[in-house]
Amino acid sequence: MNILVAVPVPALDLLAYRVPDGMSPPAVGARVVVPLGARTVTGIVVERDVVSEEIAEADIKPIRQVLDEEAFLPADVVALARWTAEYYAAGPGNTIMAVLPPKTRGDRADSYKTVRVAAITAAGLALVDVGPSRLGPYTGRLTEKQRDALDILAGAPAGVPTAQLTARGIGADTVSRLVRNGLASVRQERVDRDPFDAFPFAATMAEADRRLTIEQEAALTRLRAMADSRRFGVALVHGVTGSGKTELYIRLSAAVRASGRGVLMLVPEIALTPAIASLFRQAFGDQVAIQHSGLSDGERHDQWQRIRRGEIDVVVGTRSAVFAPLADIGLIIVDEEHDGSYKQEESPRYNGRDVAIVRGQRTSALLVLGSATPSMESYHNAMSGRYERVVLERRVLDRPLAAVTVVDMREEYAAEGPDAVLSRALKDAVAARIQRKEQALVLLNRRGFATAVFCRQCAGTLECPNCSVSLVVHGDGHARRAKCHYCNYSARVPAACPHCAGPYLEQSGFGTERVEAEVKRACPSARVARLDRDAIRRKGALGSLLSRFRDGAIDVLVGTQMIAKGHDFPRVTLVGVVSADVGLGMADFRASERTFQLLTQVAGRAGRGDQPGEAIIQTLYPEHYSIQLACRQDYPAFYERELQFRRAMRYPPLVSIINTIVRSRTFAGAMDDAADLVQRLRTESDRAGFRVLGPAPAPLGRLRGEYRAQFLLKGVNRKAMREALMAAVAARPDLQRRVVVDVDPVSVL
Ligand code: ADP
Ligand code: ZN
Repeated sequence: MNILVAVPVPALDLLAYRVPDGMSPPAVGARVVVPLGARTVTGIVVERDVVSEEIAEADIKPIRQVLDEEAFLPADVVALARWTAEYYAAGPGNTIMAVLPPKTRGDRADSYKTVRVAAITAAGLALVDVGPSRLGPYTGRLTEKQRDALDILAGAPAGVPTAQLTARGIGADTVSRLVRNGLASVRQERVDRDPFDAFPFAATMAEADRRLTIEQEAALTRLRAMADSRRFGVALVHGVTGSGKTELYIRLSAAVRASGRGVLMLVPEIALTPAIASLFRQAFGDQVAIQHSGLSDGERHDQWQRIRRGEIDVVVGTRSAVFAPLADIGLIIVDEEHDGSYKQEESPRYNGRDVAIVRGQRTSALLVLGSATPSMESYHNAMSGRYERVVLERRVLDRPLAAVTVVDMREEYAAEGPDAVLSRALKDAVAARIQRKEQALVLLNRRGFATAVFCRQCAGTLECPNCSVSLVVHGDGHARRAKCHYCNYSARVPAACPHCAGPYLEQSGFGTERVEAEVKRACPSARVARLDRDAIRRKGALGSLLSRFRDGAIDVLVGTQMIAKGHDFPRVTLVGVVSADVGLGMADFRASERTFQLLTQVAGRAGRGDQPGEAIIQTLYPEHYSIQLACRQDYPAFYERELQFRRAMRYPPLVSIINTIVRSRTFAGAMDDAADLVQRLRTESDRAGFRVLGPAPAPLGRLRGEYRAQFLLKGVNRKAMREALMAAVAARPDLQRRVVVDVDPVSVL
């Protein structure tokens, strides 16, 4: 028999192998060791009984070894991976790599964690009365600690981890004395690493507050009915920030779990939505597994194995968890479904939300997409009736949404000078929070201290030698460095201009580091910290920053969009947005959508406790619709306005697009090769009903030393577009490694 195998090697197609006579054919999803050129690799069986016409039977190599008697990857996950590879034009090699857990090549001892477990011996038990845990007549020989220890151990015949004894005041010497006297024993035991151990947050909801609001109740009833039908369906839960969506997800999950089916909960970034994981843990105990890339390989491995063994019925994870080997899924929740983090920006360039929908369809599950600011695509589907729409219009406990004020920075510059970073209104509002012992968030979606260095003599700027962007200044004073945010190039800020040698270099523009400094200057008594990618490089830094803020050890948290995501800090009563229009200047069709989402989400962080919230939004374009409508938190109006633009420009959700980037060492090379592909596509496009736009230099024209040309396919028939594109690329095998194909791109930069 011949089989098709996916091997975890980039850009390789499925490979055919022969099952040697006498070897029983492996199951779909089993791991097999196969020869590949001069080496051997471990792959996954994707299909059995393959009839190959193209390759002569004699050329098909035999598999070497079958590692699993049954499927290692469940067959439905294999099928899902295959769908993903095809839909996103990614190739099975890359895709199977994304689906496999780390460290599957063997269950090496060092990929497990062990703990010391103490247990009582027969002699120890003899000392303990059969009565309700009282010690027998010989207690005189034992210290009080030893007696306590025996008491605890007698209640747990399987043993108790010594760490738990320590936590209850019974130290290592007490235990070792018991062991020496033959009353207890200690063994080393394998445990699954528990990523929840590292979570700094306890769940926040008080028991007494658990009565659902009328809206939550109504939503739960509708969603339960959909889940109970055991038919595929998608519900868009459009609930304003603070409307209690998380509580709704937990109740719904509990119901589905009680009906005997599994639950998959996807979140954009677990580290940034810590409450979710711990609330699920609180509700479902150790029946919850967690899957995300922030875990160590060992932790991920353990959790993945537990899911595969069927010990788990609730999985919380980031986008790759959509491939979790969970059986019989009845509910998939995609929280913050609009979030760009669901899109993987390397091959396979899949969107976890969309793969989730396909998985739900195949397992007849209910799909819940939740957001306060749904993506244009999802809302469009809800409006056209393809999705059920479930609306939560009010915050729990009738807390008001934040009152929003817009500050026109053009007026501010006129009054305060062109260097103003913080408006007077924002400074006053921060100071008032410090005085009232409340907290504030200040958002600027741009890292660094200054965004450019330019020469006053020749007007040149400091550019990255590898990329077509200007270098960003990080740090102040002596620690200043100029860095590229794309390739990590880093250099000292020179004293003289590298173009004209003039000594008049100046910094312009500002990022989060500068805002942090300005807040400290405006409010010297405030405890200010910064949360952005630079500030959380060290492992554990993010958790400790968030918990210090939660505990009130920080008054003002300055940061990028990271501070806008999902957090629930009850003492935050002010949110300031320094340059609301940062994203609007981008040459991306989602610029307005992203700005609207970010502003609405960040404003939603204020006033989640007893005190009402306020948001102050600084902008140079106060009349722009995404800023105006975010201030009014009017999602439907934004959707209608944005849809007009998308319709006029022919962009999603009205058409599908595929973005293609061709890389080359020279500018002309990139443009010529892109033009050649476009030429081939044009002959197809009329017949297949799509348009080709380009080629043109990509907005990021040079990246890591390579030039980039770009073209877009737009049309309603995604399949025809993809097939035409794949045919064009196949005709130019020399380009295969230099072409990046992005189906349903989240960003076209
Ligand atoms: P969302 O995800 O919609 O922004 P959350 O689920 O974070 O909202 O809920 C906001 C806050 O309201 C949380 O602190 C949560 O514990 C609380 N909450 C949720 N449901 C209720 C309820 N029915 N009664 C009281 N408090 C609730
Ligand atoms: Zn660079």
